[in-house]
Amino acid sequence: MDYKRYFKNYPDENGYFGTHGGAMISDELKPAFEEIRDAYKTICHSAQFISELRRIRKEFQGRPTPVYHCERLSKLFGNTQIYLKREDLNHTGAHKLNHCMGEGLLAKFMGKKKLIAETGAGQHGVALATAAAYFGLECEIHMGTVDIAKQAPNVARMKILGAKIVEATHGLATLKEAVDSAFDSYAKQYKDAIYCIGSALGPHPFPLMVRDFQMVIGSEAREQFLEMTGNFPDAVIACVGGGSNSIGMFTPFLDDPVDIYGVEPLGKGPKMGDHAASMAYGTPGIMHGFESYMLKDENGDPAPVYSIASGLDYPSVGPEHAFLKDIGRTTYVPVSDEEAVEAFFLLSKYEGIIPALESSHAVAYAIKYAKENNKRGGAVLACLSGRGDKDVDYIIENYGYGENYLAKYTL
Ligand SMILES: *Cc1c(COP(=O)(O)O)cnc(C)c1O
Repeated sequence: MDYKRYFKNYPDENGYFGTHGGAMISDELKPAFEEIRDAYKTICHSAQFISELRRIRKEFQGRPTPVYHCERLSKLFGNTQIYLKREDLNHTGAHKLNHCMGEGLLAKFMGKKKLIAETGAGQHGVALATAAAYFGLECEIHMGTVDIAKQAPNVARMKILGAKIVEATHGLATLKEAVDSAFDSYAKQYKDAIYCIGSALGPHPFPLMVRDFQMVIGSEAREQFLEMTGNFPDAVIACVGGGSNSIGMFTPFLDDPVDIYGVEPLGKGPKMGDHAASMAYGTPGIMHGFESYMLKDENGDPAPVYSIASGLDYPSVGPEHAFLKDIGRTTYVPVSDEEAVEAFFLLSKYEGIIPALESSHAVAYAIKYAKENNKRGGAVLACLSGRGDKDVDYIIENYGYGENYLAKYTL
């Protein structure tokens, strides 16, 4: 594969990465998504859009975020050096704002007045409400009744930022129902509103758009790492929920001599319902308007999923990841709750960085890689997608202050 031409060829004009992707949507929604596709195709090349997004990233988001060398954490495991791309230092504390600001700016350029989305754990809702406040747009967030009760702090944040919460009460009243509710509402008002997806998935052009907006992570990191060390890392690592921080991290490295690892949540183990490792255990399937690897129950419907990290528990994965796996450019590896929790405590104690539980999966694999390649030395670069403040209460309630995990290690 010639990765220099990769962007010209993937996705194709119908939104396919090989056999994955597409736009399987109702006739009602077709014109809405086609409008976004056509608008994005021209607007993304406009000098005004590019320079405005650059200014927002610098002045509002605080970019570029640094690459940080974890010297003490690396020393625990020997010779392999662990580096982190610090998306936890992006405004709002995670990478999601990268695509929300892009989507908000696109809405502004298209003359839309409102941003619509669903949210599960509330992280996407908060990032989008932030973007809406910045651009002076209305914001409508659809959320299941069950999730509203579970995620009270994020619901409060969204409301403070001026968003309107629409409760999805039907079915299991979680993420799937929130998606249905958001799509219904969007079909009724797409002349004035734009739908903003929360990851590198959904119908075309969202996997493409979100990749483009998140690529700032990998582009910055590549340049920063080369400047710091004079070399490429041996491996680039990121956690994969829907796949947005990871595709943004990976894409700028596709043409480089680096191994690329996406880390999936193995949760409590390989039994259905205990994990959300769509690459390891999924088969091709369609949900939310696109084709990719999908975890299915006995009826072929999206399977129940679980991870300690609520941002990773999605039963499918962005279609570009499925393609990169098919062609062998990227490798997907599982990390369990236990391994992620250990990484959470180690990074906190040895580096003074409390990571999000999602990001802890990437750190856990960086540690595993460092252990296995200890003799060879070398370096790994992992994306720290977000900070862990949101997870602190849950962690101390269930794992205390990590004494059991930390006792195994001394420097
Ligand atoms: C939402 C989230 C993720 C997972 O989403 P992707 O689209 O796979 O990047 C990872 N890390 C953090 C901190 C998140 O909030």
